[in-house]
Amino acid sequence: MDAGFSITLPRQAYTVAVVRDILDTLLRRGGLCRECVDDILIAVSEAGANAVEHGDPAPDYTVEAELGPRWGEVRISHTGRAPDNARLAERFANETVPLPGPEAESGRGIVLMRYLMDEVAFQDEPRTMVALRKRRTICDHPWESPPPERATRYALL
Ligand SMILES: [Zn+2]
Repeated sequence: MDAGFSITLPRQAYTVAVVRDILDTLLRRGGLCRECVDDILIAVSEAGANAVEHGDPAPDYTVEAELGPRWGEVRISHTGRAPDNARLAERFANETVPLPGPEAESGRGIVLMRYLMDEVAFQDEPRTMVALRKRRTICDHPWESPPPERATRYALL
C-alpha cells in the first residue's frame, strides 16, 4: 500500500460521523468513485458504531486507511473485548451464517459489511479489529502515487 492514514478517537457516538467525513475526503482524493466511497462509508459506519457500543473497556478506537493501486482498506480496531468474539469471527468468515434476528444490530451490520465490501476480515488479537477491503476497479480514477513526502504514514493524533 502506498498511502496510509490513522486516527484515534474516543468511543463516543458522535465520532463515527467525524470518521465518515474524514474518510469521505481521503477516499475521494485517492481517486475512488462516489459509489465506492459511499459503500465504504456505510460499512465503516457499521464497524465504527460497533466499536463505540461494544468496545469496553477501551477508552478509544482507531481507524486506519490505506490506499494503493489495486485496493483500498480501512481497519477499525480497539483494545476492548466483545463478549462473543468467537461467534463474531464466525459471522465475518462464513457466508452461510444465517441473518441474525432484528434485535442483533451488530450482526446485521456484519451482513451489510460483507455485502458492500469485496473482503471483510475480523481478528481478535492483539486488538479487536475489523478490516474492510474494496477493490479499485474501472469505475475509479487510476491510482497516481503521491509524491514521496506524502507517501509516508502520518497520524492526526
Ligand atoms: Zn468505484
